[in-house]
Parts: sequence; C-alpha cells; structure tokens
Amino acid sequence: MKCPNCSSKNIGKIGVNLFYCWDCYIELALEDGQLSLSQVEEDGSLTLLDDLFQDSEREAKANGF
Ligand SMILES: [Zn+2]
Repeated sequence: MKCPNCSSKNIGKIGVNLFYCWDCYIELALEDGQLSLSQVEEDGSLTLLDDLFQDSEREAKANGF
C-alpha cells in the first residue's frame, strides 16, 4: 500500500476500509475500489481532498490496496 498523496508506504489501518498516512496525515477511505482522501484538521474535522486528484490516482488497486 502506498499513499496517493505523498507515495509513502507508512500507512496504518485504523478501521474497516479506513487507513491513515502517518507521513502526510491524510485519512484514506476505501469505497468501491476507489480511495477517498481526507485531511484531518486540528479540530478533528475532515476536509475532503478528492477533487485534487485524478480518478486514476485514487484507484485502490493502483496504490496497492
Ligand atoms: Zn501520505
């Protein structure tokens, strides 16, 4: 598994179909073969980052998920 944002392999599993990149602090949710990326803000809220990526970049299989 690697992070679509920073290409780090430092990915932790934090829930069912839910992962976390310890290098860029982004939450990765696996949905229907696609990764949904969210930035975790200081107050714990999530900001969706999917618009910043191409669909092909968020493809779960392409990132080893
Ligand atoms: Zn990352």
